[in-house]
Amino acid sequence: MHCTLQSQGKDTPTLFQPASSLSLTEAHALGQSCQLFLACHSSSPGCVLARLWADQPTRGDPYAEALPSKSLATKAFSTLLSEVWNKEWISSPNGATTRMFFPEVASAALLLRHRSYAVTFQLLSGHCALNSHQHRFGFSASPACLCGYNNETLAHYLFSCPLFSLLWQNLKDTVVSNYISWPPSLCEFPKSSVLFNALTLFVKKSKRLMFNRPQRTSRVP
Ligand SMILES: [Zn+2]
Repeated sequence: MHCTLQSQGKDTPTLFQPASSLSLTEAHALGQSCQLFLACHSSSPGCVLARLWADQPTRGDPYAEALPSKSLATKAFSTLLSEVWNKEWISSPNGATTRMFFPEVASAALLLRHRSYAVTFQLLSGHCALNSHQHRFGFSASPACLCGYNNETLAHYLFSCPLFSLLWQNLKDTVVSNYISWPPSLCEFPKSSVLFNALTLFVKKSKRLMFNRPQRTSRVP
């Protein structure tokens, strides 16, 4: 990623977004306030200012002015990178299931609080044994669930499949006891160790994500 850092002084670093542009009028207005440039494209604000300064030989040394502190520059770049990363994450055509658990990049840090297992990551990624996923890749003749429902989605498996009604009833009790309505948004689970552990327990006990036939925990009505 190409960025240009512009500062009005030591304490007020400002970042131009990648691929941003700067008119000559804006460059004149910035004058001597820009001190630090990083790798950038030929029409980036830094290059526009560099050319402006080159045409003004009496301007003096732009680097004689105070640079923003390293910590401020690091913080400013970190903020920008997070914004760009999050924008890409939100608009990505991939990772739809993972995005339901982690709507924003920063929320993925919640995962570090929890003990995870292989089946947990199958669940979070959506790459699992559920027929809705298997059918997409031709590994299952139908997306239908063994209970008869026409699409074995993650939501069906977790919240309404009668094959696992006893298990998700326990999950439901845990969710509701945490003052969250049923069925919850998937992003609620990583926020709480109690909910995440309950979800993990459900997945492990159901054995549905182990590429085996699910163990029936109740009679199909
Ligand atoms: Zn089902």
